[in-house]
Amino acid sequence: MLFYNLRKPSEKVDFRTATIQGLGTDKGLYFPEQIPEFPNEWIRNIDHLTDEEIAYAVVSPYVGNTIPEEVLRKMVAETIAFDIPLVPVSENISALELFHGPTLAFKDVGARFMSRCLGHFMKGNARPVTVLVATSGDTGGAVANGFYEVEGVRVVILYPSGKVSSVQELQLTTLGKNISALEVEGSFDDCQALVKQAFSDEELNSTIFLTSANSINVARWLPQQIYYLLAWKQWKNKDKPPVFSVPSGNFGNICAGLLAYHSGLPVTHFIAACNANAVVPDFLKSGEYKPVKAKTTLSNAMDVGDPSNFVRVLELFNHQFEPLKQTMSSESISDEETAAIIRSVYAEHSYLMDPHGAVGYLALKRYLKDHAGDSGIFLETAHPVKFYDVVEPIIEKSIPVPETVKILLNRNKTQVKIAADYDSLKHFLLVS
Ligand SMILES: *Cc1c(COP(=O)(O)O)cnc(C)c1O
Repeated sequence: MLFYNLRKPSEKVDFRTATIQGLGTDKGLYFPEQIPEFPNEWIRNIDHLTDEEIAYAVVSPYVGNTIPEEVLRKMVAETIAFDIPLVPVSENISALELFHGPTLAFKDVGARFMSRCLGHFMKGNARPVTVLVATSGDTGGAVANGFYEVEGVRVVILYPSGKVSSVQELQLTTLGKNISALEVEGSFDDCQALVKQAFSDEELNSTIFLTSANSINVARWLPQQIYYLLAWKQWKNKDKPPVFSVPSGNFGNICAGLLAYHSGLPVTHFIAACNANAVVPDFLKSGEYKPVKAKTTLSNAMDVGDPSNFVRVLELFNHQFEPLKQTMSSESISDEETAAIIRSVYAEHSYLMDPHGAVGYLALKRYLKDHAGDSGIFLETAHPVKFYDVVEPIIEKSIPVPETVKILLNRNKTQVKIAADYDSLKHFLLVS
């Protein structure tokens, strides 16, 4: 299987090159040349397969012969080595809990897979690779955890000082070894601008081998299909497929679901659930795509004003507006609505949602009101404790801290503070 560059379709690379490079010429995203098809029989009898068999079947056509079968089987097993349960919340709504991984958010799945792929491709390489990544919170922890102690890979994470939650900061800063965290005196946009500048600095790139680990990398994007199939495996009523509601920011997660759907996963409808950053909901109303500067909300991982993966969604539908609209709708949920739904679902169903999942739940609830007889799944993308500073005041109760977080509380933070200027970053990359 080859991947083509969406900005320059004649440029085609295999999975290995797409993973190592991240992006193609002109910063174009890679897209698979063919969409594999799940055999009908396989989909119908999915209950009889193990999770590992499902995961392997999903990713292997894309990986092709760039990773030997037994190595890839081990990698996918490690990628999903935690529970991904489908939990009933109310009469017609279930939560697909994606937060049982080491950093308590769904990004663990993509980051664990990508780190293993890159580790495999870099093994024995004389030049170690530096993974440089800016984070608004969840990406950094998942990438740090995924790449921890991976040979031949150094990770440098930039995060905005004072703008990530305390749990997120501990996850970034307490590992040490091959993981460095830079606390930048600036915003997330500043961090991202510094990373971009580093990637376009020819002198730097001739000295060190830089790559990125954000969600546009195919090795992070593609494995996210796996849990849509694991949800289908756990779905009781196979005659009536679910509506999926996906809390969306950069649109990598929902795009993976749509890809699985194009391969034959039964789905009744997709909802891209957004916070006040309503570029895509507005696009589906008006047909006009207008990127904006991101607004800060309670669901910070979805504060994106120009979602990078949306071009992949358009490509999946051959840029046809009507078929896209029939398959996917999109809803914008305000912070007030998010807080109110967290409170009421907790009171009525004793289920505590994080702010991202809550956006997904409410968008789904609204859709189901107009579609009697349907039922659905929202992706609970993070554990509520990760956002306890938001959630606790809403429910007026403290949340029990899980073991994985308790361990972090006793560790020392080892970040290096830098000013939001490029020379500080470059100096760090060259001398440390
Ligand atoms: C990253 C993230 C999202 C958004 O996912 P995208 O793939 O960027 O759309 C939603 N919820 C949480 C908790 C996240 O960390």
